Amino acid sequence: MRPFRVAVTFDAEHPDRPHHLVGHEHELLDTLGELDVRATFFVQGRWAEAFPDAARRIGDEGHLVGNHSHYHARMHLLTEAGLREDLRAAAGVIERHCRRDPVPWFRAPFGAGASDARVQDALQELGYTQVLWTSTGSDWDPERTAAHVEDELLASALAHGDGAILLCHTWPSHTYATLAGTIARLRSAGAQLVTVDQLDASQIPSTWGPGGD
Ligand SMILES: [Zn+2]
Repeated sequence: MRPFRVAVTFDAEHPDRPHHLVGHEHELLDTLGELDVRATFFVQGRWAEAFPDAARRIGDEGHLVGNHSHYHARMHLLTEAGLREDLRAAAGVIERHCRRDPVPWFRAPFGAGASDARVQDALQELGYTQVLWTSTGSDWDPERTAAHVEDELLASALAHGDGAILLCHTWPSHTYATLAGTIARLRSAGAQLVTVDQLDASQIPSTWGPGGD
């Protein structure tokens, strides 16, 4: 049987939308623990500073930890020095609170600037690999219902097949409403839930195609 590996990923960050839940990350981590799922968390530095207990649990409970910047800016709008300063600041607090080195995993806020040469140079210089995603249910969109988020995420993952990388966030109420159902449906479709370091490097999208971004 062909492998069907799926990496569930979360951007752990300060929310900026109306349908968010604050301080509920422990529920998310409880659910992952109960279902025996190891996920990948891209952690915003300032979020880790604000929620150190949740950040520590992410590392302690065996999830893979990546860098999601410090200020959650669109990286290509930063100066050369600002880019590097932001990446280093995030790595410092992520290491302190998650107790994991986020290198080499990085995900750009909004996926913005992933194809920008200056951003790519800074990431390469600091040892990072950009990790974008293959599948999302747009859990950040308050106009969607939870059922719509779950169905779209599932359909996209199944259509992609082996190596699907699911983009989720730690704060939308939809994520909490759909997580257990999404995991159950993936498993019943034969998916093995993995962290992104268990995928082949060639399966990880690191830039957007023409017209993307
Ligand atoms: Zn983000």
